[in-house]
Amino acid sequence: MNFMFNLDSLLRENIKRLVPYSSARDEFKGEASVFLDANENSFGSPLPVNYNRYPDPMQWKLKYKLADVKGVPPQNIFIGNGSDEAIDVLFRAFCNPGGRDNVVLCPPTYGMYEVSAHINDVTIRKVSLTPEFQLDIAGLQQAVDENTKLIFICSPNNPTGNSIHRADIELLLNNFDGIVVIDEAYINFSRQKSFIQELTEYPNLVVLQTLSKAWGLAALRIGMAFAGEDIIHVFNKVKPPYNIGQATQELALQALDNVTRVNEWIREIVIERDLLSASLEQLPAVLEIYPSDANFILVKTTDAKGIYQYLTEHGIVVRDRSKVELCMGCLRITVGTPEENLRLLEVLK
Ligand code: PMP
Repeated sequence: MNFMFNLDSLLRENIKRLVPYSSARDEFKGEASVFLDANENSFGSPLPVNYNRYPDPMQWKLKYKLADVKGVPPQNIFIGNGSDEAIDVLFRAFCNPGGRDNVVLCPPTYGMYEVSAHINDVTIRKVSLTPEFQLDIAGLQQAVDENTKLIFICSPNNPTGNSIHRADIELLLNNFDGIVVIDEAYINFSRQKSFIQELTEYPNLVVLQTLSKAWGLAALRIGMAFAGEDIIHVFNKVKPPYNIGQATQELALQALDNVTRVNEWIREIVIERDLLSASLEQLPAVLEIYPSDANFILVKTTDAKGIYQYLTEHGIVVRDRSKVELCMGCLRITVGTPEENLRLLEVLK
């Protein structure tokens, strides 16, 4: 790896030629009251609120609000239909299909990187995490070549729950001339600082976050990518024009007014996580609790499949990760409300 970041040379040829979608309404600069440009139904909507007009394709209001909450300028933000959309856009913008380009993944990690790579017919190079669930830097150095476009780092990592050492991520950011994607879906529960304040430092950095976890808005489907303006410009070329619905934009705007409430939940979830970890540790079927910086706990058990089955029979669903590399015998348990966590412990006892 040697550092020579050049965004233009990373892009697929067909993307270089594209310009972001712009509607007649975006291009029109004056005052208008009659909109006959987008083949909408001018009579209205069969709802108490009118949704007959297309939403702002760039979601500026929501971006300004997010800028406020996150301390990142609005032009450094892309909003996707979940961060899953941002992951897919990264593949479509940067990775030529058919095996020419490759991406590096560090399993065990979030499954969508691999799914998106397959959908986009992009070669995957896997460099497993170490037994401590940290990056294998020597392995990464070997795996990366001139056709490596993206490295995905999930921190805190799903399903292991730990954060990746900051110094190792910085090493990649300073040496890899492709794009380093840091997926911070669980950052609000972490002791580690986010990388979103480092965008000016690293031109090759993309940070993913979501409103699906700490913000409690999984059903709305709002994910964000934070990056330099040049990379955000690329995202805007590739995304579908109206990727975030009007109702979703409005609800997300309302929700983002409640930072205090969300911070209280985060504090409670972290307390519950540590209580639940301590209680689970006492159970004879539990072999190991992995330290978590997220809102879930990875638990190694004597019989993951049996325990999973037993829990479902008592109306409790957890995630069986026992077949996943480095997670043999493990269940991934989301931290619930105090009542839900107590119920889980009662049933397990
Ligand atoms: N990244 C990670 C690490 C996740 O665990 C998830 C959801 N399980 C996502 C991204 C996707 O989140 P979203 O709901 O924003 O698509």
